[in-house]
Amino acid sequence: VQVVGAFFDGCPNCDRTDKPHPLEVSYDYAAWAARDLLSQWRSRPLGVWSYRELLPLGAGLNPISLGEGATPLTRVADDGHARLWVKNETRNPTGAHKDRFHSVGVSMAQFLGFDRTTSGTTGNHGASLAAYAALANMRCLIFCDPASPDVLRHMAQLYGADVVVTRKRHEHLAWLTHERGWFPSTGLTPMPVGNPYGLEGYKSIAYEIFFQLGGNMPAHVVVPVAKGDALYGPWKGFNELQALGHRSQPLPRMHAAQSTGCDPVVQGFAAHADVVPVHPNPKTIALSIGDATAAPLSLSTLYDSGGSAEAVSDHDILAAMRRLARAGIAAEPSGAAAFAAAAQMNARGVFAPDEDVVCIATGAAVKWPAELEMAIMAHELRDDDTTAVRAWIDGRMLS
Ligand SMILES: *Cc1c(COP(=O)(O)O)cnc(C)c1O
Repeated sequence: VQVVGAFFDGCPNCDRTDKPHPLEVSYDYAAWAARDLLSQWRSRPLGVWSYRELLPLGAGLNPISLGEGATPLTRVADDGHARLWVKNETRNPTGAHKDRFHSVGVSMAQFLGFDRTTSGTTGNHGASLAAYAALANMRCLIFCDPASPDVLRHMAQLYGADVVVTRKRHEHLAWLTHERGWFPSTGLTPMPVGNPYGLEGYKSIAYEIFFQLGGNMPAHVVVPVAKGDALYGPWKGFNELQALGHRSQPLPRMHAAQSTGCDPVVQGFAAHADVVPVHPNPKTIALSIGDATAAPLSLSTLYDSGGSAEAVSDHDILAAMRRLARAGIAAEPSGAAAFAAAAQMNARGVFAPDEDVVCIATGAAVKWPAELEMAIMAHELRDDDTTAVRAWIDGRMLS
């Protein structure tokens, strides 16, 4: 690996044109295909670092890893024609797919010689970064949205990070990066898009799904979208599987799920736009996907893959949380949004019979107690009176 710079502001060559582009890590796919890398991968256990030939950290260097990835792919029953699967990313070390991102991003930060790292966040991103920074023995400072839950701010501090609660997280992030030399684990490029190294960690979501489906491409993948990193990363991963030699099946169509209360990608897709519009007043219980705008890469992924963008109401997101819970998966609202969108599309007949549709359940409910409480149908009695408790139980069993 030849590293010539960190390039947090995107590709320096593209910057001089009118089309700025984030740095893209690329690999010699033909050489790896010739060595039949795919067969080697097939015999390895799942997990981000099982696929390190296509990660930017050089061979022989120790990754910063908490055992992220290798999450279950669970079939969830649905009345529609297609088979719905849920990739249960709530099972990651800090309860979100973001751990894949930071395992690679923080490993690269350490390799590049940084000892300080920062990010802006609605909650999950910051808590995850703080955990990996702790393991790497790096100073960590998180800029948190005022609406992010106490639990996530407290988790970040338990991992040793400093937290600043502010509405101006992007401004401060740019200052710490440019003026103080910190490693930004969120995007700086005007696009905006995430850290170019962290993004590489999301490719393993695609590889794992492929192997969990017995070496088959799913027909559709539905992803809850904020900036679009978790949509683009797996798309890149599926393309790499093709570049490594799996050409017998078409690539999956990638679909973006957003809340009707904040759906800039859905609006941009409907307008065939190149640039995602800015939503004037985001208002949704799904705060992790409540960003007012997203990277152009989110739209190009939808166009390139022949996918679509689907908005779901907060009401339907809460219903999806309850349905996932019946399959034993407790997801936060943003984590349930992809399943809500897939179920809605399946009911509308968007998918062909017997197609495999994979929904990414990105984040765990336990970190979002207020939203968790909104999703439940209360089944609770508080009473110390023995007779009252027994009468209540008998009454419940009749219903
Ligand atoms: C970060 C996040 C997403 C998606 O974010 P992108 O910026 O689009 O990658 C989705 N769900 C949850 C729970 C998240 O934390």
